[in-house]
Amino acid sequence: MTPDEMTPDEERFLRRAIELATEARAAGDPPFGSLLVGADGTVLAEDRNTTVSGGDVTAHPELKLARWAARELTPDAAATTTMYTSCQPCGMCAGAIERSFLGRVVFALSNEQLAALKPPAAGPGVRLDGPHLYDEARAAVAGYYL
Ligand SMILES: [Zn+2]
Repeated sequence: MTPDEMTPDEERFLRRAIELATEARAAGDPPFGSLLVGADGTVLAEDRNTTVSGGDVTAHPELKLARWAARELTPDAAATTTMYTSCQPCGMCAGAIERSFLGRVVFALSNEQLAALKPPAAGPGVRLDGPHLYDEARAAVAGYYL
């Protein structure tokens, strides 16, 4: 979606997400904000990044809103909502958004645009080491979903 395709209401919601990002920055947190809007245009919830002030590396606003939706809305109701967010959700948040069945995400900055504004991620990254112990691990899961 390009900005030209947004309605005035959508632009207003996205500007509010950016405003929340600015509030996060002013409070000493990374600059990200999001809101969740119902099908009728009601703002259901909004939040901002609190990873520094809350001492929680997972306290991204998108994740907090996805958890709120999973707790407070039925999957059908969640599917009618739109999340407006100041930046494209990271992998962690995208997974939570999928699992909470939100219908749509409208973002301002893309991940590529964000990457151009910050230094590359530090650290060696996580080494994924598996699969192992298939028979034992399978027994714990088999039959649960079927
Ligand atoms: Zn995130």
